[in-house]
Amino acid sequence: MTLVGIDDTDSRERGMCTTYAASRLAGAIRDAGGCVERVLLVRLNPAVEHKTRGNAALAVHTDLAADRARRLVEEVLEMAETDDPHTNPGAVVADCAPGAIPDAVADFAVDAVRTIQDPAAAKTLADAVGFARIERGNGRGLVGALAAAGAWEAFDDWTYEHIAYRERERWGTERDVDTESVFAAADAHYPAVWDTVDRASGYPVCVPRTPCPVLYGIRGDDPDACRQVAESIESEPVAESTTFVTNQGTDVHLQDAALGEVADARAFRVTGEVAAEPETREGGHVFVDLAADGTRLACAAFEPTKGFRDRVRALRVGDRITACGEVGDGTLKLEKFAVRELVTTERVTPTCPECGRSMSSAGRDQGYRCRDCSTHADGKAARTLARDLERGWYEVPPVARRHIAKPLARGGFDAPTHPER
Ligand code: ZN
Repeated sequence: MTLVGIDDTDSRERGMCTTYAASRLAGAIRDAGGCVERVLLVRLNPAVEHKTRGNAALAVHTDLAADRARRLVEEVLEMAETDDPHTNPGAVVADCAPGAIPDAVADFAVDAVRTIQDPAAAKTLADAVGFARIERGNGRGLVGALAAAGAWEAFDDWTYEHIAYRERERWGTERDVDTESVFAAADAHYPAVWDTVDRASGYPVCVPRTPCPVLYGIRGDDPDACRQVAESIESEPVAESTTFVTNQGTDVHLQDAALGEVADARAFRVTGEVAAEPETREGGHVFVDLAADGTRLACAAFEPTKGFRDRVRALRVGDRITACGEVGDGTLKLEKFAVRELVTTERVTPTCPECGRSMSSAGRDQGYRCRDCSTHADGKAARTLARDLERGWYEVPPVARRHIAKPLARGGFDAPTHPER
């Protein structure tokens, strides 16, 4: 068996796309008489997403001999837009069964999803385990290539994305996809297929707006359902399509941590108490502070998360929540949160049991009294609070979801869920 890892053929300006390169490679392998067992689409640390669109790396598992696969990889990399200085493709090729991936390469895959890895480390490791390296530009793509090669051994939660590509002459032009047919197909197959559309905004999330070759990508837990949705979509002609096995929608980027352990450029799952009333700031971004063990952490729901911000605004001081998201500049960018405990009463100035009017302070530590009726209360009274939140998980809408974040629709969470669809 041959294992190929490939990355960083994206060019933001010119519109190449690593998934397309992998799809072409799979096609070339089949044309050469090889069998493609699977094509993996591996999302790496979302904190480096600004460097390449979506920070994706790909792996192809095939029975074609490694030396023949290597020649095909080199041909596909020629397509990569190396004129763009931000495009630095890399690939690894190994004579290795997917079940026999060295532990060190699997560990590297986990690290590349949760931290930031440098090309020198990837180069050293590839050489140590005897994987052939192919690099163009500065070789930064080697990180993703090696991570993609290790992913099958590193992770056990996999989903699917069926990607349809456009005819080459249409690249960069407006996509012709019938939105109504997308919504109907998405409805018919939810929740086996998810994040196809965003109902609140009416936006077809599966259709990208970038100049890349992708016409649409249908994500879900069932590859057949993904393909059925694709078949039901009315659109311009589909030039080719590939169903990828992917770590999208798995939350594999999240690490459990105490509040004091969080660090920038990583993503965490932390639990704490709401320490200050949520605050809406300029631009419509909502901030809320969490506290635990004497540490505080700012959490934010940014404007593009739309209705999710109302869930964050509904939090009150004293609520206990688990928050998930990437940390940058010391702030956790909320992807989802779970209400663990809700404050359901508040302490208020007592009312007089005789006349029903608000009592007034009887002096420091003297409780409250009613001047008219001479009634007395020892302290504040408890009043039941009406809350707009329930126990369980809340999430950003599909339009704001990161590729790697797990939609609540997938299930398997440790509390009730309130999915956005
Ligand atoms: Zn009174």
